[in-house]
Amino acid sequence: MKRRPGTTPRGATTRRAGTPRRPARKGAARTGVPPRRAGAGDGPRIGFGVDRHPFAAGRRLVLGGVVVPGATGLRGHSDADVLTHAVCDALLGALGLPDLGTRFPATSARWRDRESLLFLRDIAGDMRDRGYAVGNLDTVILAEAPSLAPHLPAMRKILAGALGCDVEAVSIKPKRGEGVGWIGRGEGMEAHAAVLILPAAGGPLRR
Ligand SMILES: [Zn+2]
Repeated sequence: MKRRPGTTPRGATTRRAGTPRRPARKGAARTGVPPRRAGAGDGPRIGFGVDRHPFAAGRRLVLGGVVVPGATGLRGHSDADVLTHAVCDALLGALGLPDLGTRFPATSARWRDRESLLFLRDIAGDMRDRGYAVGNLDTVILAEAPSLAPHLPAMRKILAGALGCDVEAVSIKPKRGEGVGWIGRGEGMEAHAAVLILPAAGGPLRR
């Protein structure tokens, strides 16, 4: 059988039966859409923060701006609110700003024993100046003790107030250490936070 070069004889196949055709490649070169520079533009942004503090006798425990009565507190330069610190770092990360320790140095007497909600409100102000609002905040507190469940509604309300979002947009999930590691041995607490920020109504403002 004679055929032209580049053609396939009737009935012949170059793919194995059942192999799907490869879809046409899509991308900047084909669509004409220029690649978007990371961090540029006015779309959603995410941030992630982690913090940890050791327990310390003689200090009160403050979490998400709530004083937990009767519980051992945490050692730290400010009020050692480990949850709020993680939220601050998440929000700073979403905004592409330097971390909490750079913004409010522990070496400065100005911030000694200060309420960490001050930090969060200040950072939330920067967020609003840039035309963003919190979409939602999700957090985890790792602690062997005390039981935090009774305090979660108050923590959510205070954090939502500082961030200017609905309480329903704030999640706090306590986790125990199950006897494992330094959390399980009750040596301290750790908090993790992830935040999504969205362009606020009216669009981003530019400084
Ligand atoms: Zn901290």
